[in-house]
Amino acid sequence: HDLYALDVWGDGFFSINEQGHVCVKPIEGQDITIDVNDVVAEALDSGSSLPLIIRFQDIISSRVRRLNRKFRDAITEAGYEGQYRSIFPIKVNQLQEVVVEVMETGREYDIGIECGSKAELMAALPLIGADTLLLCNGVKDHVMLTMMLNAQQLGQQVIPIIEKYSEFEQLMILAGQRDAAARLGVRVKLNTRGAGRWYESGGARSKFGLTVPELLRLVKTLEKAGQAGSLELLHFHLGSQISDIQVLRSAVKEITQIYADLVLRGVNVRFLDVGGGLGVNYGGDYDNPDSSINYGLREYANVVVYAVQEICEERGVPVPTLLSESGRALTAHHSMLVIPVLGVHRPDSPPMNDETPPDSPTLISRIETAYQEACATEVTGILLECYHDAREIREEADQLMRLGYLTLDQLAHTDSLYWSICREVLRKLSDAQLTPPPTEQLELEEQLTDLYLCDFSVFHSIIDHWAIQQVFPVMPLHRLNEKPERRAQVVDLTCDSDGKIDQYVCGHANTSWLPLHKHNHGEAYHLGIFLVGAYQEILGDAHNLLGRVDEVHVYAREDESGNFWIEETLKGLSVKEMLSQVQYFPNDLDRRMTELVRKQINAGVIKAAEGSRILNNYTRRLEESTYCTTEVVR
Ligand code: PLP
Repeated sequence: HDLYALDVWGDGFFSINEQGHVCVKPIEGQDITIDVNDVVAEALDSGSSLPLIIRFQDIISSRVRRLNRKFRDAITEAGYEGQYRSIFPIKVNQLQEVVVEVMETGREYDIGIECGSKAELMAALPLIGADTLLLCNGVKDHVMLTMMLNAQQLGQQVIPIIEKYSEFEQLMILAGQRDAAARLGVRVKLNTRGAGRWYESGGARSKFGLTVPELLRLVKTLEKAGQAGSLELLHFHLGSQISDIQVLRSAVKEITQIYADLVLRGVNVRFLDVGGGLGVNYGGDYDNPDSSINYGLREYANVVVYAVQEICEERGVPVPTLLSESGRALTAHHSMLVIPVLGVHRPDSPPMNDETPPDSPTLISRIETAYQEACATEVTGILLECYHDAREIREEADQLMRLGYLTLDQLAHTDSLYWSICREVLRKLSDAQLTPPPTEQLELEEQLTDLYLCDFSVFHSIIDHWAIQQVFPVMPLHRLNEKPERRAQVVDLTCDSDGKIDQYVCGHANTSWLPLHKHNHGEAYHLGIFLVGAYQEILGDAHNLLGRVDEVHVYAREDESGNFWIEETLKGLSVKEMLSQVQYFPNDLDRRMTELVRKQINAGVIKAAEGSRILNNYTRRLEESTYCTTEVVR
């Protein structure tokens, strides 16, 4: 557990069983524990292939309940005379099954939806009934504003949140044309700046929101039109993954003062919306206080409830209904990516145990001596000296080889001894547990890290790792009662040196390598990348034309047939579908391929039967996944 820090990022959902397998306990308060490896086996049996997204739908429900309960507890404890409703921002994961799961569990808590674009609005409108709150942030043109007014006319609780003054002017014109007052909210640019990676989403220079003078102008315009009651909601958003709870407290206080001022002048704002930003602990970012979070759900809820209540009491105004647009916190945990290891590249050469090659120059006996000394000593200073010597001798050997003074045998002997020294020195330095470790140790760790080639694309499945160095938990899904002997870095299928995972959560620290088990070519060794349910899937791109992966949606269910149920299987993108997105169409490709094969048959290069086999193979593969197969030819 400690090695991969499950207790830090697992949020109580993940554990390791006696067989050394990763398990999931998706429903809070129920003891159903699902072995992830069983899910993988069943998915593969029923035709899915790796890489595979597994969605534990019950985890979504557990997170929705947990967030809402924490707010209810805070409200009860504080004696807050209002309510809390969470609003799900669908940008975090628009997949219908995810949104529906959130909405179904959220029904008992009056959960709402937030959308930020035309397509998101059009997806959300038919999903909500008459009572569900639908908030619309982001840039809104007259087409979107009209759709929202139509929804209001239908009796739906749709509230556009004004981000720019011109949006308000457009809304007033459109509402005026129908002789109706529009319901609306306003995003306010607070002086409090966010804390964390997305801090620029808040503060005076943020992209969205009205300044206080603009808000006042809007209020006066509404008052003049006799529509002060239209302004129902005040909102701010500090950016995702708020790292410091004090910053949230300060922003809540700032907006509550504005709320109180408006209420006192007769504008009865009903909702106070504290935006997104509720952080998720990915178990990483130990070295970067900007991206770790210093609070949990309970503290978040308490800060919002108590800060609003305190100011409302001081100012003598009724408390508003509290809203938060927490997205990451509801969806990050539910989904994981299973990736198979395809092969391992070891940078070092194995020991050769050969005799010294004949006529060797003195550098060979020098490196042999360095090796014997490294084996014989435990003293740090001598170990470092052996490594320094080995490094220098290897450089000399390179030069001699270029000048033609070293045979291939002699070079191989030197190289093999160099790596033996490196392994010996690193093993002993690691055992000595020096703090801080000498730079040579770090250098050796990097040199002696294996590259584990895995079947996935960083750019498609965990783009935030590449884009903003977000750390995602990675660990083997099995063999966890065996000691992982290898130092590994996970690399992906793309032809891009950035296509790798170079930050891990390991033993409550962040490391550039992960301990993994020895992988035997052709044997199944599966790794899990966890907490990928927020933002990753929709932001992911198609680098090297690696597309959407297969996925299964799993529910916990205990009966005689087992303890889970794959409710739905979705196929990833086929090669054919992926190619069509960049204007290569299967019919045309088939036609060109047929012509090419026919030409070679006619020219006598291949026999007709061979031509058919090659052509069939090409056509069949167009239907398959864009990823590799894990099968090896024996
Ligand atoms: N609300 C708004 C306006 C946003 O821009 C975002 C995303 O940054 C969210 C809510 C969701 O934030 P989070 O996923 O951090 O809860």
